[in-house]
Amino acid sequence: MTEIFKIGFISVSLLDIIDIVLVTLIFYKVYSVIRATIAAQIFYGMILVLILALLAQAANFKALGWLLKLLSDIWVIAFVILFQPEIRRLLVLIGRNPFVRMFIKNDGANVADVISEAAFELAQHQHGALIVIERSVGIRGVAETGEIINARLSKNLLRSIFFPRSAYHDGAVIVNNETVEAVRCTLPLSSETSVNGVELGMRHRAGLGISEQTDVISVIVSEETGSISVAEKGELKSGLSKEGLRNYLFNAITVSRKNGLKNILSAVKKNKFSTGE
Ligand code: ATP
Ligand code: MG
Repeated sequence: MTEIFKIGFISVSLLDIIDIVLVTLIFYKVYSVIRATIAAQIFYGMILVLILALLAQAANFKALGWLLKLLSDIWVIAFVILFQPEIRRLLVLIGRNPFVRMFIKNDGANVADVISEAAFELAQHQHGALIVIERSVGIRGVAETGEIINARLSKNLLRSIFFPRSAYHDGAVIVNNETVEAVRCTLPLSSETSVNGVELGMRHRAGLGISEQTDVISVIVSEETGSISVAEKGELKSGLSKEGLRNYLFNAITVSRKNGLKNILSAVKKNKFSTGE
């Protein structure tokens, strides 16, 4: 390739420019996909190691270069392990095509009805609640921090669980399709401590935290204010009405399942692997 210009001893060719633009684009895409998730922090760490490796190579540090080369040799394995939830989410999205969905029973409407009615009644009584709705992936590990009950989902079951004097009221409930899988679960806390200037308590940070890490929707009813919030993909929306919550849940559970392919396309457009709305 012919050289275009020279900076000191470095000559730059058209091929180099295309190369750099491509790498920049890939890094930018990856960054915008994982922004606001826990994977972002891991990603920064990996970039730091990469930069160090390049510097060590340039400066001819043999021992450091050797150590960093070791790291980059296990790069692919480390990548798969560290980004397992993201990779899984991507594969699930790709596999979620309308054909497959036609054969799966669709109970999104009922789940949305039951949960929005329960949340509304809990809010009226100012009983705090935290409900995590699983979508494409299970969260067995989180369910096991609580008590597995595998009970049939109903409005009164949710009301009873979150009744403040109930033995099950503390922590989060995990719902999978029409089953309450587990109660009293401990969720990972989000590192966000406020949203739009409003300080977040533990319940809200827990609901937000799990939504940053995996493909779930959290419904949070505030004990203090009786307001209803939802968290999805690390974003918290507050002050939902009963209808608002129902429609939100219905879309997030049902429509996103049907529109697998459309989602992928719009996700690519929005630079996000969105799975709902
Ligand atoms: P509220 O508006 O209802 O007061 P909040 O966001 O201010 O909510 P806190 O007042 O701190 O939150 O709510 C504490 C409750 O949140 C606890 O009683 C517990 O049930 C729940 N909680 C706290 N941490 C977690 C966690 N890591 N996982 C699940 N639930 C949690
Ligand atoms: Mg509070």
